[in-house]
Amino acid sequence: MVPAVDAATLKELESALRGSILLRGGEGYDQARRVWNGMIDKRPLAIVRVAGVAGIRASVRFAQTHGLPVAIRGGGHNVAGSAVCDDGLVIDLAAMKSIRVDPLARRARAEGGVLWGEYDHETQAFGLASPGGAVSTTGIAGLTLGGGFGYLSRMYGLACDNLISADVVTASGGFVTASEDSNPDLFWALRGGGGNFGVVTSFEYQLQPVQHVLTGFVAFPFAMADAVLKRFREVALEAPDHRVWFAGALQLPHIGKVAAVVMSHFGAEEEGWQALRPIRELGSILFDTVARVPYCVMQRQLDANSPKGQRHYWKSAYLSELSDEVIGLILTAMENTAGDLDQVMIETHGGAISRTAKDATAFEHRQVRFNLGIFGICTNPALDQPAIAWARSLYQQILPHSTGGTYVNYLSEGDDVHTAYSDARFSRLARIKARYDPGNLFRFNHNIAPA
Ligand SMILES: Cc1cc2nc3c(=O)[nH]c(=O)nc-3n(C[C@H](O)[C@H](O)[C@H](O)COP(=O)(O)OP(=O)(O)OC[C@H]3O[C@@H](n4cnc5c(N)ncnc54)[C@H](O)[C@@H]3O)c2cc1C
Repeated sequence: MVPAVDAATLKELESALRGSILLRGGEGYDQARRVWNGMIDKRPLAIVRVAGVAGIRASVRFAQTHGLPVAIRGGGHNVAGSAVCDDGLVIDLAAMKSIRVDPLARRARAEGGVLWGEYDHETQAFGLASPGGAVSTTGIAGLTLGGGFGYLSRMYGLACDNLISADVVTASGGFVTASEDSNPDLFWALRGGGGNFGVVTSFEYQLQPVQHVLTGFVAFPFAMADAVLKRFREVALEAPDHRVWFAGALQLPHIGKVAAVVMSHFGAEEEGWQALRPIRELGSILFDTVARVPYCVMQRQLDANSPKGQRHYWKSAYLSELSDEVIGLILTAMENTAGDLDQVMIETHGGAISRTAKDATAFEHRQVRFNLGIFGICTNPALDQPAIAWARSLYQQILPHSTGGTYVNYLSEGDDVHTAYSDARFSRLARIKARYDPGNLFRFNHNIAPA
């Protein structure tokens, strides 16, 4: 039971901030409580739009004093809607956008409200980039804290593997820096353990030289999906680290069901065109966007497929192999979709992700080959339950063919967070949680209860 805190008391917090507080019924509140997933409809007691670390510390202390649970909002993209909550306090970092690039040291520091598109814009001014998500409107915070897979990951690792340090406001309102040398237990947990351990006010990343890339998607009629997914499997398994393939079976507005592959090739251009040949040879291409483009263009190429407000329910499963049986299950499910935009995406892992030591970070799944995302998506609330049932059903059929593990950042509301970690890793995370947040103040996340 969340204690009642009246509006006048909440307004007192405002005097301790450079930011502002949005209260129920007040201007801007309804817009501010909305997140990317249109299925989420939470009504926090208040949303605190902080402008800096001082405001975050004041908000955390206020929440402790009044017994209010806290949700932390970075980019607001998490499908579970854990950036917002019912009745508690939302600390919203959307206004915290500072990004400082040090091109000589090849490092960048970015505040917790930065989105990947904003980060890429600044770092690309120097021809540099860090592995980030494949959609430019996703927050750096949630993505990095859960692991963070992107086009550069087979070359340079996950987003969390490129984290050098993080500044954190803890549940007591204290402030610590986490790195290999300072609070290393916290630093370990922040790299894959999600938003459980405090409010990360800024992230310091390693940068890599990246400029142009040969990238795009090639789409085929859905009737060819079996051949497309099997050819994708061949090219994906043979790919060097500087090339990554995704595949999907999806429903596109005004087009209908298609099968598609996405290639991103960071090596010599001619080699990339050669690598694309086995895909193009399948013929009957509906559209083909592959071109040599600046890095930021690649980072936005899937944005249109992921607009804010559509209604999502996700399941995911890591696979050691993409067997004919799994392809068959995907195709049958896609023939019998329930949501008007249901889709399945397959990401390829391996490369630098697998070469990082298993226990170097809290992220668990370093040896898998594929991550299968099963996305129940609809535009009409009447289709919510059918889309959810569709995603759950396909997941249950895939489960015996999977490693049993899931990606914490793809878990939906109510999913078991334990599936994202082994028992040993989960226990270690719970012990670190007990040290930094013993009262579970930060519980609106894929929650790891304090040991
Ligand atoms: C369209 C789309 C594309 C995606 N693409 C990818 C992809 O390519 N690769 C990939 O790995 N993942 C991807 N994801 C998943 C993504 O990693 C998660 O949704 C992630 O949680 C988003 O981070 P956010 O900051 O936007 O989310 P939020 O919803 O703001 O936050 C997610 C969780 O992180 C915590 N959190 C947020 N900010 C902070 C902070 N500053 N300090 C502490 N905790 C914080 C909160 O507890 C919250 O529970 C994608 C998601 C979407 C919707």
